[in-house]
Amino acid sequence: MSDKADVVVVGAGIVGSAIAFQIARRSSFSVVLLDKGAGPAEGSTGASSSICRCRYSNPDVIRLARDGLAAYRNWAEFTGLEQPGNEFTHTGVLWLLNEDRGRLEAERDRLAEAGVAISLLSADEVAERFPSLSTCIEPFDLTGEVEHTCRPIELAVFEEDAGYADPSAANADLIEATRNCGGTVRFRSEVTGIRKDGERVVGIELADGSSIEAGLVINAAGPWCNRLNELAGLDLHWPLEPTRVQVAYRDWPAELGSLPIVVEASTGIYLRPDAAGSRILFGSVLEEDEQERVEDPDHFKTGADAAFRDIKIHGLHHRIPELPHRGGVTGIAGLYTVNRTDVHPVVGPSGMDGYWLANGLSGHGFKLAPMIGSMVAQAITGARASFDTDVPMSLLAVDRDPIDVAAKSVLA
Ligand SMILES: Cc1cc2nc3c(=O)[nH]c(=O)nc-3n(C[C@H](O)[C@H](O)[C@H](O)COP(=O)(O)OP(=O)(O)OC[C@H]3O[C@@H](n4cnc5c(N)ncnc54)[C@H](O)[C@@H]3O)c2cc1C
Repeated sequence: MSDKADVVVVGAGIVGSAIAFQIARRSSFSVVLLDKGAGPAEGSTGASSSICRCRYSNPDVIRLARDGLAAYRNWAEFTGLEQPGNEFTHTGVLWLLNEDRGRLEAERDRLAEAGVAISLLSADEVAERFPSLSTCIEPFDLTGEVEHTCRPIELAVFEEDAGYADPSAANADLIEATRNCGGTVRFRSEVTGIRKDGERVVGIELADGSSIEAGLVINAAGPWCNRLNELAGLDLHWPLEPTRVQVAYRDWPAELGSLPIVVEASTGIYLRPDAAGSRILFGSVLEEDEQERVEDPDHFKTGADAAFRDIKIHGLHHRIPELPHRGGVTGIAGLYTVNRTDVHPVVGPSGMDGYWLANGLSGHGFKLAPMIGSMVAQAITGARASFDTDVPMSLLAVDRDPIDVAAKSVLA
């Protein structure tokens, strides 16, 4: 049996779902969204810390993140769902950076210019707002071998509007919203072949033997993206590497009060509240913790390593001195698809007719997804819709030059 669609999107994680929804909500294009999993968020999305913040090196990426944040902050309006499952938790992001006053003021101005609500807080203001946090900015050796004396930060950068979402619920919402707009979403539908007419992609084949003819096939297969490109015969020059990344959790005692998201330079950890404030999630922003390449995205260790938990917990205790030492530390691992060249996605025409990419989202895919969808949908349909970004898709084009980044990590 062969079906037909204007657009087939392969992969119903947060990125593919956002693309399908953004096309369906603004056009009469027939969209089919396919996923090999049994339900939403079985790939990278399900493991995501889902932090939505805007501080990046490139001003257009800042704008893209800002526009994605606006979609998450207005989720019911954006998705058109009366009762979305996803709730955005507004906390702000406190950046504790080891920089001098002049550079921090320049950083504030740079972010404000891109439309980010931003302020600088003194150490006293941080302590007043978030009493459980240490304001120390002195580098702290996690092995405990180097003696440490705390030195309070002069100024911290605070992203006022930032926060985090529920990644699985957001993914499920986009699927429901796609269906509400007339799109088709099919799970347990693994794409096992790409059909071509000469050099042009004209459809896909599924594991059950069926096929779908399509004017356009979009690869949104997350860490499986290279496999799909192999099926298409596309030799992509961007090194997109499925990479194992870990996060850990510890119970959070209510008496320590509320926390923002924190990204800090003393030890290179980030943290945020989790599970309705009953626990704390912490991970790493260091390039060295984004190096574990995974050959097969279907088979990797999904629990956090004891070594990771044992080391990073020292960073957490340094940042939150009153955090009790009781209770265990748990953790998980998921996959970034790291673009090793510039840690940014590649989006749009692949160079092969009828075949587009939305891959290599690295550690930024959750926050950017609604606007990756916006860019792709605007380019395909020529139509605008509410919450659209004005950042051009050429920023992330396959034939672009690498983007300059201050750090080849999630901080990018
Ligand atoms: C631990 C961790 C923390 C993170 N924290 C953040 C954060 O705080 N903020 C942020 O912005 N980003 C964060 N990220 C990154 C973000 O989660 C990812 O970039 C994003 O989820 C990628 O979404 P995706 O849709 O591209 O991939 P996925 O969610 O992996 O979706 C791809 C889908 O494609 C399907 N698929 C693959 N091959 C096929 C096939 N042949 N046929 C059919 N279906 C197929 C898979 O089943 C899968 O569901 C984090 C990621 C991890 C792992």
